[in-house]
Amino acid sequence: MRAVKFKIAGYDSEDDTAGQQVDIVALGIVTAAIILFVATGSEIGPAVVRSLRGQGPGPDSFMLDAFLLNIAIIIFGWSRYRQLCEEIVLRKAAENAARRLAETDPLTGFLNRRSFNTGIDALIARCTDQRPNHGADRNRVAALMMIDLDNFKQVNDHNGHSVGDLLLCECARRISTALPRGAIVGRIGGDEFAVALPFDRQHPEFVTHIAKVLVAAIGESVQINAVNITVSASIGLSRSDLGGDSPGGRVSSLFEMADIAMYHSKRQGRNGFSWFEPHMADEMRFRSELESGIRQGIPRGEFVPFYEQQVDLQTGELIGFEMLARWDSPQFGIVAPDIFIPVAEDIGAIAELSQSVIAQALEDARAWDPRLTLAVNISPIQLRDPWFAQKLLRMLVEANFPPQRLEVEITESCLHQNLAQVRSLITSLKNQGIRVSLDDFGTGYSSIGQLRELPFDRIKIDRSFVSSLVDDEDSAAIVRAVTTLGQGLHLPITAEGIETQDVLDHLRQYGEITGQGYLYGRPRPAGELGEWLDAGHHPETEAPVEPQNPLLPKTRLG
Ligand code: C2E
Ligand code: MG
Ligand code: MG
Repeated sequence: MRAVKFKIAGYDSEDDTAGQQVDIVALGIVTAAIILFVATGSEIGPAVVRSLRGQGPGPDSFMLDAFLLNIAIIIFGWSRYRQLCEEIVLRKAAENAARRLAETDPLTGFLNRRSFNTGIDALIARCTDQRPNHGADRNRVAALMMIDLDNFKQVNDHNGHSVGDLLLCECARRISTALPRGAIVGRIGGDEFAVALPFDRQHPEFVTHIAKVLVAAIGESVQINAVNITVSASIGLSRSDLGGDSPGGRVSSLFEMADIAMYHSKRQGRNGFSWFEPHMADEMRFRSELESGIRQGIPRGEFVPFYEQQVDLQTGELIGFEMLARWDSPQFGIVAPDIFIPVAEDIGAIAELSQSVIAQALEDARAWDPRLTLAVNISPIQLRDPWFAQKLLRMLVEANFPPQRLEVEITESCLHQNLAQVRSLITSLKNQGIRVSLDDFGTGYSSIGQLRELPFDRIKIDRSFVSSLVDDEDSAAIVRAVTTLGQGLHLPITAEGIETQDVLDHLRQYGEITGQGYLYGRPRPAGELGEWLDAGHHPETEAPVEPQNPLLPKTRLG
């Protein structure tokens, strides 16, 4: 790995000058000794020659002693001088190494956060310094790019940290290859890089182009230890002419804006870049309100289970309920899971949230007819927990709830994770008597091979196909194909999203399948299930009603 070279002004330390002074003193002593040697030598030399020829007395013994002493001083001084030179070279090398360690990231050779901050501050200062003859171009401004790898954590978890390190080095190499001269680059977090570069304020497309190249370069797969690995990058861009003016504030506001734009890229589906725009800050504030609301809401019991009926389509008999979590937020009202589940996943609160609603659902379901089943949804993130099956079993034991009545729904997107891990989890759940179904089938491109390989107990056809099957031939063909597949693999089928009698009539031709949807009523909280539980079966004509509570508009999260 080629460590990226960088240079920041103001690094020459005073110690080096001190070293050079010592060095000059030693050389001075040697030089003085040499001058003395020449002077005394010129005195004694002719006297020695004269005495050897028998033409006069020998040299003065004092002068001779001084001469010999001079030779000793020269030898001693010279060797000391050499020693000092070597010491200085060694000390300089050690100082450079220590400084490199303190200022750069040892893995990639990029600047670390602290020195990147110094670098970008100097860059902005150079761009904004408008003093005459200072050489600054009035149109130059600094751009900051925050580059975050999208799925780096999974790579680390699945392949180990050494592979993660090699991947980071490869990304660093690709980043430095794509950057123009004058750019400074830092690794400012585990999987976060930052780039700062000057550009002409009239031509931001210069920066946009570099961001595009970086997304493409990082997104290309890499072979590490015979494993093909693909990560992508989300990039946020900000420019110094839009940030704060105070020298201390300008770097932090530049970072904040790039950070907000980077999160925007993530929400836009990752693997892309965005320039900061002011509306993103509102989204960000809303997002952080959601995050803190979720964190506080879990212990306060604000997350509650709602229930949707699951029905035998032939007889109309109620066979169980699917639990769907809702957030009864004091600030936002009733919030749908599509809004809060992804946020809870991102902030690492999903397991706690899920545990809280499942515990309440087990409690509720104990009061129902014991023939009724309870289905719960599980996030892909929970599947990565090797103790998940044990934790669920413990909850069942604590609630005194028979595992045979519980069905765990796993979405198809989970199958893109480590398949061996998913298989072992499904197997341990099944060993405990819990059934496992594949939710939202048809949306996640799982292969038929995977379906055969994983011991699911049920397939749930995604509501997007079911609700449109009367009007859309393709949807009808997909529903037919999935029911045929289910019969072939001996897997019971559930159709989600039955909204009309026409859809129900159509589905009935497939024989023994179960279904759920707004035709049977909207999901309700436990306290409002009375009439459904009393009836046990339902008229197929319960009209769809509008949701009782306002859900958050989904557009607010982008
Ligand atoms: P899902 O498991 O596929 O749940 C069915 C979703 O379809 C529910 O949306 C339900 O209200 C909606 N639905 C039911 N019948 C109809 C219909 O006839 N027409 C239409 N258009 N929609 C119908 P909801 O409650 O908003 O849940 C959305 C998703 O959030 C769920 O999809 C599930 O994947 C997830 N989710 C819900 N609760 C939890 C939970 O506790 N944990 C996790 N990890 N995910 C949950
Ligand atoms: Mg579900
Ligand atoms: Mg579903």
